[in-house]
Amino acid sequence: MQLTVNDILVKLQEIAPFENAEPYDNVGLIIGHGNNPVTKVLVALDATEEVVDEAIEMNAELIITHHPLFFHARKNLVEDDPEARIVCKMIRNHLNLISAHTNLDKSEFSGSMACARLLGLQNIRQEGLLFVGELAENKTAELLFDEIKEKIDENARAFGNMEKNILTVAVCGGAYDEGWTQAKALGAHAYLTGEVRHHNAIAAVMEDMVMFDAGHFGTEVTLIPALVCYLQKWLNDVEYNVIVNSSNKNPYGRLG
Ligand SMILES: [Zn+2]
Repeated sequence: MQLTVNDILVKLQEIAPFENAEPYDNVGLIIGHGNNPVTKVLVALDATEEVVDEAIEMNAELIITHHPLFFHARKNLVEDDPEARIVCKMIRNHLNLISAHTNLDKSEFSGSMACARLLGLQNIRQEGLLFVGELAENKTAELLFDEIKEKIDENARAFGNMEKNILTVAVCGGAYDEGWTQAKALGAHAYLTGEVRHHNAIAAVMEDMVMFDAGHFGTEVTLIPALVCYLQKWLNDVEYNVIVNSSNKNPYGRLG
């Protein structure tokens, strides 16, 4: 039997129902057709031109990304615009695109959950977009920062009192620095997210919150292995001869 784009959509729906996405979001099938056959899938955070080239190279028919294309409405596909160029290239190469964005953020397959697991948080619970848990034992913010740099992003930044004792940690992958107030209300001693802005760092530190910024890419690229694993395991179990790969491209054009 031939696997189709629709089969993959159904499988993603099981872990991250598309109707859970925020109203402003753009998720599900973005380019292509549900009946199109699939033998190779590439999973990436963003449909950059490099990722599209990677999919073409491996003869994939389907790209699954976290961040959607057409996030903002557009009225043409004139190719002097980067997104239009990418979309046209995908269509010319018969590529299909599925995006699982804020619906995935609210699931066990989120980057937040992946980061929480990487830090060894226990008793992980979800509070809206935040995932909260306890470290196996108290440690200073400095030690936790070392771990974040080692396991999530070596270029991570820290804000606040590095001698503070940390037990409860809240995580939200991507860009959600304003979430520090919710993290504090939930009793977290530290908050890990990406794209921390100056004014929110100052406000958090004034309230004795320790904030870590491990980057938008750094905190969310963590979601890819679990998603690839989930799809590949299912495909193997149902004996479809389909390969799911994770992209090795970094959207900023550098490693790490
Ligand atoms: Zn994101």
